[in-house]
Amino acid sequence: MRVLLVEDDPMIGQVVRDALQDAAYAADWVRNGQAALDALAAQHYDLALLDLGLPGKDGLEVLDTLRARRNLIPVLIITARDALHDRLRGLDAGADDYILKPFDMAELLARMRAVIRRRNGQASPMLDNGVVTLDLATKQACAQDGSPVQLSGREFSLLQALLMRPGAILSRAELEDRLYGWGEEVESNAVEFLIHALRRKLGHDVIRNVRGLGWMVSKHS
Ligand code: CA
Repeated sequence: MRVLLVEDDPMIGQVVRDALQDAAYAADWVRNGQAALDALAAQHYDLALLDLGLPGKDGLEVLDTLRARRNLIPVLIITARDALHDRLRGLDAGADDYILKPFDMAELLARMRAVIRRRNGQASPMLDNGVVTLDLATKQACAQDGSPVQLSGREFSLLQALLMRPGAILSRAELEDRLYGWGEEVESNAVEFLIHALRRKLGHDVIRNVRGLGWMVSKHS
């Protein structure tokens, strides 16, 4: 999952970006509204965390511009406690949820999961294709007849990307895109390495290789 963090406060930005990476998100951080719009036009993101008080274009202008461009990316607003009017304006302008500063990272991560789940029409906190189940909160996976195994952050991100769309083939580039943010070095065989690790933990047949195209998990039958 790739997330864009839009936050001008250097301290908050750093803390949130680090926490997102620890939680296995590929996280890119921009510090003003125009940079946010440029990033969102150039790159697919699964969610944007949008501070409202930004230099230049503020968060509400960014949101208005996005929705006017028919960009439907889930947006979670980050805002100060006193700005009720802005929060309501943000929700009316198409934000999916908001969180008040100062916030607890655990709450932010839970709200992000909830927003992403709702957007995918998914009521349960688990992803499941009938072969493997993935708990999005604990990062535990379970193959049929197996006991739950703990995944590393990157293993989790890769399996999550595949389980979001069972039956769809994701190429190496598409997988890398969901795993690594700006400035993170990608080893040339990183994807193969992670798939090997997932198969060792969950069974070889959990992830299928489609020669020359990429990888997939099977669709519910
Ligand atoms: Ca701010």
